[in-house]
Amino acid sequence: MFTASELLDINQLLIPENKIVIITHYNPDGDAIGSSLGLKHYLNIKGLNAEVVVPNDFPKFLKWMPEAKKITIADYKRKKAWEMIDQADVIFILDFNAAHRCGNLVGPWIEKAKGIKILIDHHQQPEDFDFVYSDTSVPATSQMVYHFIEAMEEENIVNQDIAECLYCGIMTDTGGFRFRSTSATTHRIIANLIEKGADPAIITSNTWDTNTVSRLHLLSLILSRIEIVKDGKVAILYLKRDELKEFGFDKGDTEGFVNYGLSILGTRMSAFFMEDLYEDFIKISFRSKDDVDVNQFSRKHFQGGGHINAAGGKYYKDIYETIEDFKEKIEEEDF
Ligand code: 5GP
Ligand code: MN
Repeated sequence: MFTASELLDINQLLIPENKIVIITHYNPDGDAIGSSLGLKHYLNIKGLNAEVVVPNDFPKFLKWMPEAKKITIADYKRKKAWEMIDQADVIFILDFNAAHRCGNLVGPWIEKAKGIKILIDHHQQPEDFDFVYSDTSVPATSQMVYHFIEAMEEENIVNQDIAECLYCGIMTDTGGFRFRSTSATTHRIIANLIEKGADPAIITSNTWDTNTVSRLHLLSLILSRIEIVKDGKVAILYLKRDELKEFGFDKGDTEGFVNYGLSILGTRMSAFFMEDLYEDFIKISFRSKDDVDVNQFSRKHFQGGGHINAAGGKYYKDIYETIEDFKEKIEEEDF
């Protein structure tokens, strides 16, 4: 958490005269949107002028969140997004550790922006901003936003809008309260959020019971050719661009696919390779169990990063070559 004196300084910045902008990472996920909107609702209830900007669009299954449709998407509204960031007095940096995670458009805007920057994030190796609350042991940035509200001694103003957004962020980033850093504290916060009006059945259904037939067909395709290497310890999945097109791929359709690799008995790591729809590179998602550190692995070989058990990266070769290179690199790893 921020120190007591940092909290005092931050409190001084949270005044109605200041324009506050909340930014989250490229390809926003449930925690990115949940933490950003949760914080926005909290600041708005305090009478502050706070808005959310995201670099690019996010999946439909996150658009049920209160005011999700008011988020400014920089890809679609460049001028407005630029002006918001440029004119902001205070910029909250949520659920990412470094400006480049916002992509080629918004990343440099953040670096140039004059506003005071406040980071709240749970990824490894945060860049240095004016105020930094970084904790890799917390499973979701949405939980950290709740801790921030606690530290401000304002849990009493948490309402249903805040509760729903933070609940969704915690639920998605913990894979439904399953992943390793899900703690008793996480569950206590979830209990509080339920008391404030977050309905687990409705949120789960709005977020996860949203499959389309085309998504299930994509899933069945990748499951049908899943490959296991390194003595059963590593699962490999992949999807090509023409397949994405054939099945009418929509943003977010491949969310969670990588987890199927880890659900196989004996696997310790799963890697999912996907050709980008528009540009010539392979986007990779890694997931792992226990002490298999995919953050380090991805930083070392795939220009990426993330968390110990969930990371992503990029590679600039043909998909089959990428997978072959991956297989060589993974054989060198000691697990
Ligand atoms: P996902 O596989 O869901 O895209 O990402 C898993 C985790 O790794 C997320 O926490 C995400 O922020 C992080 N991550 C994904 N791609 C990248 C990347 O290219 N670079 C870095 N540094 N982190 C990434
Ligand atoms: Mn997160």
